[in-house]
Amino acid sequence: MIMESLSNTPSLRRRGTLLAVAAGLAIFAAALQLRADEPYARTRDYDLQHSRIALRFDLEQKKVLGDVTHSLSILRDGTSKIAFDSVGLTIQSVTVNKTAAKFETTADKLIVPLPSAAKAGEKFEIAIRYEGKPTKGLYFILPDKDYPDRPKQIWTQGESEDTRYYLPTYDYPNDRLTTDTIITVPASWITVANGKLINVSDAGKGLKIWTWKESVPSSTYLITVVAGEFDEVKDSWQGKPVTYYAPKGRGDRLPVNYSRTPAMIDLFSKKLGVDYPWEKYAQSMVDDFVAGGMENSSATTNTSSSLNHAKIAAELTTNEDGLISHELGHQWFGDLVTCKDWGDIWLNEGFATFMDYMWIEAHYPKDQSEYERWQNARGWFEEGNLYAKPIVRHDFDDSSEFDGNAYTKGGWVLYMLRHQLGEEAFYHGLKHYLEVNRGKNVVTADLAKAMEEATHTNVDQFFSQWLYGAGAPKFELSYAYDNEKHQVAVTVKQTQKVEGRVGIFTVPVDVEITNATGPKLYPITVTKANQIFTFPSDSAPLLVLFDKGGHTLKSAEFHKEKKEWLYQLKNATEFSDRADAVVALGKIKGDEEVVAALGETLRNEKAWGVRATAADTLGQLGGASTSKQLLEALNTANEPWVRNRIVNALGNFKDDAAITTKLEAIAKQDNSYRARSSALQALGRLKAPNAFATLEFAVASDSPDDYLRIAALRSFGPLGDDKAVPLLQQWSAAGKPIESRTAAINSLARLQKDNKDITKQISAYLMEPHFPVRMAAIFALGGRGDATAIPALEALLSSGDLSIEMAPMIKGQIERLKKPADGKPGAGAGPREAGGDGEKQSTDQRLDKLEHLLQEMSERLKSMEKRLPPQKQ
Ligand SMILES: [Zn+2]
Repeated sequence: MIMESLSNTPSLRRRGTLLAVAAGLAIFAAALQLRADEPYARTRDYDLQHSRIALRFDLEQKKVLGDVTHSLSILRDGTSKIAFDSVGLTIQSVTVNKTAAKFETTADKLIVPLPSAAKAGEKFEIAIRYEGKPTKGLYFILPDKDYPDRPKQIWTQGESEDTRYYLPTYDYPNDRLTTDTIITVPASWITVANGKLINVSDAGKGLKIWTWKESVPSSTYLITVVAGEFDEVKDSWQGKPVTYYAPKGRGDRLPVNYSRTPAMIDLFSKKLGVDYPWEKYAQSMVDDFVAGGMENSSATTNTSSSLNHAKIAAELTTNEDGLISHELGHQWFGDLVTCKDWGDIWLNEGFATFMDYMWIEAHYPKDQSEYERWQNARGWFEEGNLYAKPIVRHDFDDSSEFDGNAYTKGGWVLYMLRHQLGEEAFYHGLKHYLEVNRGKNVVTADLAKAMEEATHTNVDQFFSQWLYGAGAPKFELSYAYDNEKHQVAVTVKQTQKVEGRVGIFTVPVDVEITNATGPKLYPITVTKANQIFTFPSDSAPLLVLFDKGGHTLKSAEFHKEKKEWLYQLKNATEFSDRADAVVALGKIKGDEEVVAALGETLRNEKAWGVRATAADTLGQLGGASTSKQLLEALNTANEPWVRNRIVNALGNFKDDAAITTKLEAIAKQDNSYRARSSALQALGRLKAPNAFATLEFAVASDSPDDYLRIAALRSFGPLGDDKAVPLLQQWSAAGKPIESRTAAINSLARLQKDNKDITKQISAYLMEPHFPVRMAAIFALGGRGDATAIPALEALLSSGDLSIEMAPMIKGQIERLKKPADGKPGAGAGPREAGGDGEKQSTDQRLDKLEHLLQEMSERLKSMEKRLPPQKQ
């Protein structure tokens, strides 16, 4: 699964793996009182083997009318009752083997007593007739007075434990079943469910019945139903149907964003040596989706915000490929082979992250995947709350198990395993893992066992430190050259604090020594907290690289002289070594040689990620000569993904008329919408003299996907000019496009902080059915600092009408309002205006730093969205 972003500037949508960054910072220490997912797999009394699920809908009342027949087999002698998960559903009747049966319901269970104690192996058919108005699990997206033209959509979201809100069933991953899904809908609708479409028949009264059959067993959280007014585009892979669905009217957006799917299926099938395992592959893009994407077996659901306008798609380095490859990767890892419990969720999410790398490596220039991996490592280290937790953990009641460890670190661990085992052995191992566990539930030990069986390499130590242990090595490095012995002595220290689950790491790395005669590579293995490695060298080295190519998840502080970093920037052959040099040089302030070298890199470096990082770094260094480098680079930087970063960097130069003039010009006219969007945001951040008029003009102008309007609305917040209030109120209002609204709400909350009417207006949005609007309102209120919003947030929290991950975020914002760091309730200054308070200040600094990282990371997978709070700018 990929979670939805709150961010509503398309170019700044976030990667999936960053949920915890935001959640961690926003929640502070708020403990979750709501139910956390069950960490351990349940003990089972029965094996649910097949479900016939017949659903009808009452659109008026947003009701689901269900008839489900479960075929199950008893696992335990003496079982006298069957318990199903069922929340908020009204059970009308139950039959056991076609005979009417008694039943009981509790807050979260339907309990059906059996006629007598059953024996293991005994089979039962239990039919349940029920109805309900689901608060989760199944969602009705319907036209209303504010959005009368909206295509009708009904969709489900089961993961992690929400299927039980619309279907009484066994709702934990450690059971697998086949399904028949029978959906009755208006004749003009389309439906999508798991498996093969068997039949569409006329049911009279303007209705049709769609019958889907899934004959490959999978877990109940992967059950899906999508129904509504959709456009369809048909494709295929090796004779299997590959279909794409968009809300009616947006079908023309499907090919540009989704047509690479068959090529991905092909690549994954070949690399894994296991063909795509399901009978078809459908991707349904739905409005107001509560996640970015969800890998239901054979039928993924994605957010409709992945349906980019072709002009915007062309400005994204890998467009929606990150989202598409992530969810497709799950069809093997997650669906065919499923984590047994949520504590092993990385076996789903880490692999999906890795499968995304696999596609990017195969389909784009090498430096694209290298840049993503390099950034992911930096991003993971920035998420301080992850470091002490192991990837495999069962104590997640105070946080989500869907965190940056499961996603980012999980993907990195698989990358390292591949690097250490070698391509051939690694994929041989994965094939074996998939084959022996096909159709089964797994824990991490099953992967270790399969890898060892296939490769005869013991991976226990690797699994122990990277998966059951926490953290990653933090290296401090230096070296000395001995003129007499002709030796380079490299001192390697691991500086991470050894405590809890964090230990000293054993890692193989390559050290490369370059001297006058050229480079030489030496593989070493670091095993201790403090070690010295010596290498022969005829002359003093020009460059020493530790972990050449950056194949280890680590942080490293390498004490080198400026001239060596400059040499590394220019001459290192690998992406990560040059990118590291940019970052290291960025710490040397006020040095013209450094500025010139970074400017040169910005113009001429071959990898765009290094160029973009150089732009960021120049922006942070500041000073007249750096802005000159940035302005000059604009003349030749044509790729939108570099151009926007240069423009963004220019947004750091306050009170510089030449720069604001340039930004004004770009905001109004440029080949790149992303650059224009960055210019609009930079102008707001700089509080530039003419910014108000420029932003106002952009709000009034049309652009593909409202790209510029959204950027301008978002920029009014940082601009901080109260004159914008009426305009923002207008664009926040119901009826305006949802993405424009979320941007406007975010900015509105930052203006006229004493105006209780604004707080009231935003509070009212909490009760709207539109998920993105709600999320925007939650974070806007938290940031606004007006404690009068607390009751509205508390009311939402206790409504129970919450989607995954929403509850902890609301609690976090309530905490923020209750405890403003300056101690004055309700004061809540915006982060840039924060005074000298220590705690507040450091949090803001972290947020700023985070924001910067997020901006860098946004290059990638714009659609891999998570719920992040609105940006601090
Ligand atoms: Zn996922």
